[in-house]
Amino acid sequence: MLDVQSVSKLEASPQGDVVAAVRTLAARELSSLVNTIDVDGHYPEAQMRAFGRLGAYAQHLPGYSPSVDLVTAIQAMAAAGEHCLSTSFCMWCQDALGWYIYASDNQHLRTTIGPQIASGAVLGGTALSNPMKSLFGIEPMRLKGRRGDGGYIVKGLLPYVSNLGADHYFGAIFEVEEGGKTRNVMAVIPCAAAGVTLADNAKFTALDGTRTFAVQMRDVVVPEEWVLADPVDPFIKRIRAGFILLQAGMAFGLIRDCLRLIEQCKGPLGHVNKYLDVQAEPLAEQLAGMEAEVARLAATPFEDDLGYWRAVIEARLAAGDASVAAAHAAMLHCGARGYVAGAAAQRRLREAYFVAIVTPATKQLRKMLADMAH
Ligand SMILES: Cc1cc2nc3c(=O)[nH]c(=O)nc-3n(C[C@H](O)[C@H](O)[C@H](O)COP(=O)(O)OP(=O)(O)OC[C@H]3O[C@@H](n4cnc5c(N)ncnc54)[C@H](O)[C@@H]3O)c2cc1C
Repeated sequence: MLDVQSVSKLEASPQGDVVAAVRTLAARELSSLVNTIDVDGHYPEAQMRAFGRLGAYAQHLPGYSPSVDLVTAIQAMAAAGEHCLSTSFCMWCQDALGWYIYASDNQHLRTTIGPQIASGAVLGGTALSNPMKSLFGIEPMRLKGRRGDGGYIVKGLLPYVSNLGADHYFGAIFEVEEGGKTRNVMAVIPCAAAGVTLADNAKFTALDGTRTFAVQMRDVVVPEEWVLADPVDPFIKRIRAGFILLQAGMAFGLIRDCLRLIEQCKGPLGHVNKYLDVQAEPLAEQLAGMEAEVARLAATPFEDDLGYWRAVIEARLAAGDASVAAAHAAMLHCGARGYVAGAAAQRRLREAYFVAIVTPATKQLRKMLADMAH
């Protein structure tokens, strides 16, 4: 039997305590809640806050944590993701928001909401899909800002932003036109700010428990003290590798569970499943390789070398591809027992596509690699 649970050396270290504690809580609480999250769109708020109290969102924050330990953040996310990708994605949203604040020089945010985001007392997310696509020439910026008293006035609509609620916060980027030039500015926005409305427009095929809203901003006043970076370009270079590498936690947890499903079927169905093209052993080897590569890259998240950046993009592409491949394999191994409503295999298959379509989506990653070749 493959020991797909014991993948991280970290668990022998103090940071490993965080991962082990998240794993224990996730096994106890998420495993029984996952179908309610998946089918009814239940948002696992209590578990999100509990993971924060265990330190899941604090380890990777520069200046807050003694080391910039992305691997623990990734492995904590993976431990929850072994049960539920919605929860794992919400953890990424939270991790990304903390990452922006502590990678910035904004002392106000670092000393006010920063520690509360690190502990899960305050929750929030990131509205960076549109700017990430815009920066790589895929679509125009959706948020526009202009100078106002002591800051900016921002308006626009973002179709999907997750891990939100009335008292949550999100990181956003808006375009400012000044003196005949445009630049982008990044800030943290409270959902409670005047002019912000959250609309629950869509029911998703999976990930519906992520409190994903369309966010409308109607002349929202963004004071200087909420601004993370102005202009944003050097800051994007600083945060981009961490933003992407942290997403690996979603893939690792999901793939581990797919391996578990394949192993579970070996007893009753191994005599016929052995004819399937994809077996657990090569998948597990691929997972171990991806974990090692992500750990290597995560050790230096502020590196600005182009070869490093390319390797981050390739690792992210591999994570999306492998998630879909592992979930597809798990579905074939499980057969009809995986196809009934409520079965893990069919949910994992739906969830896996999210890893491949959340920004940066597979198609964007392939465009980025193609652009680099020129
Ligand atoms: C469940 C879920 C949660 C998400 N959470 C976040 C989040 O927290 N933060 C964030 O920034 N992004 C979030 N997104 C957006 C996600 O990261 C991708 O940007 C999105 O899936 C589309 O990416 P794409 O590159 O495939 O673009 P494409 O699918 O090619 O889309 C191109 C454009 O069309 C827009 N679009 C697509 N469908 C619709 C629609 N029904 N109505 C209006 N516009 C539409 C897209 O936003 C995009 O601007 C979420 C998406 C989903 C499905």
